[in-house]
Amino acid sequence: MTRTLLWFRDDLRVEDHPALTFAVHAASDDGDVVGLYVLDDETPGIRPLGGAARWWLHHALLSLADRLRDLGIPLLIRCGPAAQQVPAVVQATGSTGVVWTRRYGGPERETDASVKEDLRGRGFTAHSFPGSLLQEPWTISTGGGGPYRVFTPFYKNLSGHPLRELLPVPKPVAEYSGVQSSLAGAGVSLGAVDDLDLLPTRPDWAGGLRDRWTPTEEGGQQRLRQFVDQEGDAYTRARDVPGVQGTSLLSPYLRFGQVSPLSAWTAASELDHEPSASTFRSELGWREFCWHLLYHFPDLPEKNLRTQFDAYPWRTQAQEPDVFRAWSAGRTGFPFVDAGMRELWQSGHMHNRVRMAAASLLVKNLGIHWREGEAWFWDTLVDADAASNPANWQWVAGSGADAAPFFRIFNPERQRDRFDPDDVYVRRWVPEFGSEDYPDPLVDLRASRQQALAEYQQLSGGS
Ligand code: FAD
Repeated sequence: MTRTLLWFRDDLRVEDHPALTFAVHAASDDGDVVGLYVLDDETPGIRPLGGAARWWLHHALLSLADRLRDLGIPLLIRCGPAAQQVPAVVQATGSTGVVWTRRYGGPERETDASVKEDLRGRGFTAHSFPGSLLQEPWTISTGGGGPYRVFTPFYKNLSGHPLRELLPVPKPVAEYSGVQSSLAGAGVSLGAVDDLDLLPTRPDWAGGLRDRWTPTEEGGQQRLRQFVDQEGDAYTRARDVPGVQGTSLLSPYLRFGQVSPLSAWTAASELDHEPSASTFRSELGWREFCWHLLYHFPDLPEKNLRTQFDAYPWRTQAQEPDVFRAWSAGRTGFPFVDAGMRELWQSGHMHNRVRMAAASLLVKNLGIHWREGEAWFWDTLVDADAASNPANWQWVAGSGADAAPFFRIFNPERQRDRFDPDDVYVRRWVPEFGSEDYPDPLVDLRASRQQALAEYQQLSGGS
C-alpha cells in the first residue's frame, strides 16, 4: 500500500494543487494520503509569522482540514523545526514518501533540500512541485543568464512562457475514518490547530480582522468571483482610489496559497475590459517579480539591494520612538497616511496607493529606516509576504530593484487631493479628522523633503 505524506506550507488549498493531484494519483489503487502542516518558528533564518498572519493561518488551517476531510485526507498538525518533524512524521505514519509545493526563500530552500536528502538517503521518496508562482524563478533569466532587476523586461519574459493547466479538486482518495483509525492504530495523533496558539488572546485584537475577512479557501474563491463578476472591469480606473472597492483583495489568499496565482491569472480572461485584465495580470506579475528577487537575493529583507544606500543616515525606531509610534498609530497629522495606518491596524490590510504614501513618509520625510516600517507591516498585514513586503519597501526607499527614484517623494497631501478628493477614505478611518483632537503634522513636508534630497546627494558609489 502506498501512503503519501503531503507537507503543506504556503499552499493551503485543494484546488489547482499539483502536489495534491500527484499524491492522490499515487494513491489511486489501494493507497492513501496524509496531510501535514508544521509551524516552524525555530529553524534559523525562517522568519516567524507576524501576529496578523498567525491569525489568518489559524483559520486557513481549520478550513484546509475540513476540505481535506472531504477527500479522505487527515491533516496532522505539528510544531518545531521542519527538518526534524517531517522525517519523524514520514516514519511514524508509515508513509512511503513525501511531496510538497516548492518555496523560494533561502533558508526554506535549504531546509527542503536537507529534508529531501535525508529522506531519500533512507529509502523514502521525496518530490517537490510548482504551485505558488506562475513560473519557477530560475526559468526567467536575462539574455546573460542572470536575474532581472527591472520589472518590464522580466514581465515580458514571464508572459512568453506557457502556463500549465489548471487542476480541478481531486476526487476523494479514501474513507477518512479508515485513514484516521489506521493512524490512531500506529499511535499517531492528529494534533490540533488550537495547540499552535496562533490566535491573540490577551487582548484579542482580531475583531476588525474577523469583520473584514473570510480567511478560507472558499472565501478566496468567492472574492475572486466577486472581483471578476462585479469589480474587475473597472480595475484600471478604480484601483488607485482607496475610498472605493476597486482592487481584488486577493493578496492574503495568494499569500497563503488559498487561491493559486494561476487561478487568478486565468480568471482575468473573463473580464470584458481588456486593459483591466492586462493591468491586473501585470500586478500578479509584480508578485512574481518580488519572488524572483528574493530567490536571487535572499538578503532582500535585510540588505539594500543597491549598496550605495548603506551609507544613507536612516534612523532607527529606538532613536525616534515618538515619531515611530505616531506613524504606526496613524497620528502623523497627514490624514491620507493616518487613514492607511489605521486601516492596517484594524483590518490587517492597507490599500496599495496608501502603502506607498505611508512608506514614503516614514523613510523619506521622517528619516526612519525602511526595515523598521517593513517589520511593522510584517506584523500587522494579513498578506505579509516574505518577498513582496521587503521588495516593495525597498522600491519605495529607492534602494531596491526597479525602484522609484529617490527624488520621487510622495507628498501625502497631494496624494489625498488626487486619490481621495472627497475624503471618503480619510473619514472612514479617521473620524476625528478636522476636529481639535486631530494632531498637527508631525513634520514639515517641504523641509524634510529637502533634507532627504541633501542626504541622498551625499551618497556615492555602490551599485
Ligand atoms: P490587487 O490590486 O487586486 O492586485 C492583485 C494581486 O497582485 C495582489 O493580491 C498581489 O498578490 C499582487 N500585487 C499587486 N501589487 C503588487 C506589488 N506592488 N508587489 C507585489 N505584488 C503585488 N503585497 C503583498 O501581497 N504582501 C505584502 O507584504 C506587501 N507589502 C507591501 C509593502 C509596501 C510598502 C507596498 C507599497 C506594497 C506592498 N504590497 C504587498 C503590494 C500591494 O500593496 C498589495 O499586494 C496589494 O495592496 C494587495 O491588494 P489587492 O489584493 O487588492 O491587490
